[in-house]
Amino acid sequence: MQYTEIMVRYGELSTKGKNRRNFIDSLGRNVRKALHDFPELKVHANRDRMHIMLNGEDSAKVMDRLKLVFGIQNFSPSIRVDQDMDAVYKTAVEMVRAQYQPGMTFKINTRRSDHKFEYDTNEINDMLGGQILDHVDGIKVQMKHPDIVLRVEVRLNGIFLSSETIQGAGGLPVGTAGKGMLMLSGGIDSPVAGYLGMKRGVNMEMVHFFSPPYTSEQALAKAKQLASTLASYSGSVKFIQIPFTEIQEEIKEKVPEGYLMTVQRRLMMRLMDAITRKRNGKAIFNGESLGQVASQTMDSMIAINDVTTLPVLRPVISMDKTEIIKVAEDINTYDLSIMPFEDCCTIFAPPAPKTHPKLDRARAYEERIDVDGLMQRAMDGITITEIKPGENYMNAQEDVFAELL
Ligand code: ATP
Ligand code: MG
Repeated sequence: MQYTEIMVRYGELSTKGKNRRNFIDSLGRNVRKALHDFPELKVHANRDRMHIMLNGEDSAKVMDRLKLVFGIQNFSPSIRVDQDMDAVYKTAVEMVRAQYQPGMTFKINTRRSDHKFEYDTNEINDMLGGQILDHVDGIKVQMKHPDIVLRVEVRLNGIFLSSETIQGAGGLPVGTAGKGMLMLSGGIDSPVAGYLGMKRGVNMEMVHFFSPPYTSEQALAKAKQLASTLASYSGSVKFIQIPFTEIQEEIKEKVPEGYLMTVQRRLMMRLMDAITRKRNGKAIFNGESLGQVASQTMDSMIAINDVTTLPVLRPVISMDKTEIIKVAEDINTYDLSIMPFEDCCTIFAPPAPKTHPKLDRARAYEERIDVDGLMQRAMDGITITEIKPGENYMNAQEDVFAELL
């Protein structure tokens, strides 16, 4: 069908009282950003609905993008006709026929914002229902749970018909919760944590620690590729890479093996604290899940959180690995995450890290290294890039891919 507009219903934002305008404006901006390469589109973000005028753009492609935008409950592709009942009949019959299968039932649901139109909603429901019954063989009316709901909206600028409702991504518009910084490794969990944070409206920047030459170019490319996948949910993301080699080498040399992991994590957290404050972020996000590995116990969190007073948010904290994997598959990060490029933590991981490190010991061992100097040099080595959806960072690694597959 040649649709004229997509009608978008807002999610939770309708309950947000006086912040509503802000939410709607953010959603409007995010939708425009997600659809920036469809030049003919016009987006009108009104108080209770958003209307996207297609002006000839491909509705299927537009809807594929819309499905990823947080803050949308659902949407319906619609066709506009003039305020003329014959035109309404013709389009309505075509729409229902396109969906009809033997045995299906339907109902008509009319809303009217143009109260001057010559028929009221009940009259329109009856007249149009009669037309459908006459022209679609075998179809029956059913008020409760019909197979097809034909929605009709009489507005000043025409009459809009739709018969499909497509589920949106839910959540809140990205940006409405402020800025957060995700610790993005190359693993399965942190991209899922990032996605869940973005879903609650966080404008997420991606921070990746890398340790050349111990970690490869591929490992870095993989983290960027994950960032690009997450960027589909916000239009673009900042990717912040922090060199971690010198810190890891120094810790390896000066800290007893049982506390290598804890002290490394403290340094990561210190750097997260510094970069988050510098860039006006409000919280640190990571992919920790309680009990999953040695560093993810509550004692470990006590020993690591000690270095920051910012909130450290862990969206996947209570999820099972299988639940995390399911989300990773849904958001298309899983296949990337399981590619076997070592990240900086695996390489310096001691064979038996302390599962219940002591805070005072962690502090004492950390004093053996030059925290300020190491941090300063790491901060000086930071690079920041803007990453967009659909970019390909793994291209250069094609040969490696070929071997893996
Ligand atoms: P993931 O699957 O996200 O890598 P994991 O189960 O492997 O998680 P760890 O390796 O212990 O867990 O890391 C815990 C968290 O620390 C990660 O979820 C991530 O948020 C952060 N992290 C680990 N390595 C890095 C890195 N190189 N750069 C940025 N953050 C990291
Ligand atoms: Mg990991």
